[in-house]
Amino acid sequence: MERSDILIIGGGPAGSSLAHFLKDRNIDSIVIERGGPNRDKVCAGALPVAVKSILPEHLRNFKKVEYSLLELSHKDGLKAVSSKEIVFAYGILRSEFDAYLRSGLDVRYNERFLDYTETKDGIIARTDKGKYFAKFLVGADGIGSRVSLVSGLAPKRRFIVAEEVEIPFKGKFDRTMKIFLGYNSPGYGWIFPKDGFLSVGSGTIRKYFRKNTVQKFHPGEYKTKIYPISLWEKPEKLHKGQVILTGEAANLVDPFCAGGIYPAILSSHILSQTIEKALKSGNSEISGYEDRLEDTIYKEFRYALLLSRLFYPLLAVVKKYAVRTSTLDFASELCSKGYVSYQKIYERARKSKHLPLKLACLMTKKLFKC
Ligand SMILES: Cc1cc2nc3c(=O)[nH]c(=O)nc-3n(C[C@H](O)[C@H](O)[C@H](O)COP(=O)(O)OP(=O)(O)OC[C@H]3O[C@@H](n4cnc5c(N)ncnc54)[C@H](O)[C@@H]3O)c2cc1C
Repeated sequence: MERSDILIIGGGPAGSSLAHFLKDRNIDSIVIERGGPNRDKVCAGALPVAVKSILPEHLRNFKKVEYSLLELSHKDGLKAVSSKEIVFAYGILRSEFDAYLRSGLDVRYNERFLDYTETKDGIIARTDKGKYFAKFLVGADGIGSRVSLVSGLAPKRRFIVAEEVEIPFKGKFDRTMKIFLGYNSPGYGWIFPKDGFLSVGSGTIRKYFRKNTVQKFHPGEYKTKIYPISLWEKPEKLHKGQVILTGEAANLVDPFCAGGIYPAILSSHILSQTIEKALKSGNSEISGYEDRLEDTIYKEFRYALLLSRLFYPLLAVVKKYAVRTSTLDFASELCSKGYVSYQKIYERARKSKHLPLKLACLMTKKLFKC
């Protein structure tokens, strides 16, 4: 049986970044990945610029495009573009980005985690190819997390369903991120230009999802791929004994925009610090992980959830105020400074001179007791 300090299930952004953060702390790990080295994940590949500052320095040079303009259109004909050219987000290709993050790691490809048993000193995990002993087992295995299922931690409750396609594009690269509203309420569509192709997609709450919604704002001959996303709803217990979850396996996906890459990497960064503490002090359980998430990720996610309950269902009321240049300038400037501050966006809406928007803010806050 092979041994390692930490066994990580899943070689997506959460699992591979965790392995690097641990390596930088001289903690060894093995990553079990059921896909091959070039596995592609259905994803629009948009990243907040803040991702660069949390990745280890040797991983900051990933291939990317930069977005400096934000365009919002509503199917009723409303349209606005931000007026200041300012880099507020990056665009990546997932197969490339994930392979880059896995470089230099001990990854066991084409191997599937099955289950685990707890022992006095650690965990014995079983895969379809063998057995491993580790002091801690980390589930970084995304939305279909088997570790979450077997451990009972962080059940998947609040889904959206999204479709996405990467369409070859020969024209000049346009640094504009385009968002489409009103085609798949309560969700949104997107066109994110990349190097040589366009990422086109649309996502919404499961019961409202209709395939090929993208054809309504980007007609053409192409087929989309469909994939669910597990959104954050509330803090949950993410560890039990020596088993811990991170990334989308822990439902750590932004409930406003459904971005999961940045929270996956940030949660893994925090987890690496708590694992180091536990190993140094000889503790068999980690402590402080959920508290650190509260101070970082959850603080913003609470406002992201509040805004999602205000923005998408009340789009008819708020669209006039959202689809305007000054709002987009405010949002892109906030994003250019790091991860978007939903609290600041909410406060701006709450203090607005426009009575319908103000009332919508107060109503949502009261209704959802946030
Ligand atoms: C259409 C769509 C568009 C999206 N667009 C964006 C976007 O623009 N920006 C953004 O930030 N997020 C986006 N997301 C969300 C984002 O893709 C995920 O939240 C993110 O990939 C989560 O990272 P992760 O490492 O936690 O999980 P994943 O990236 O899902 O990685 C999990 C890994 O675990 C492996 N695995 C699973 N089960 C096992 C097993 N039993 N044994 C071994 N290995 C296993 C999988 O093969 C996978 O490689 C989008 C999602 C969808 C569906």
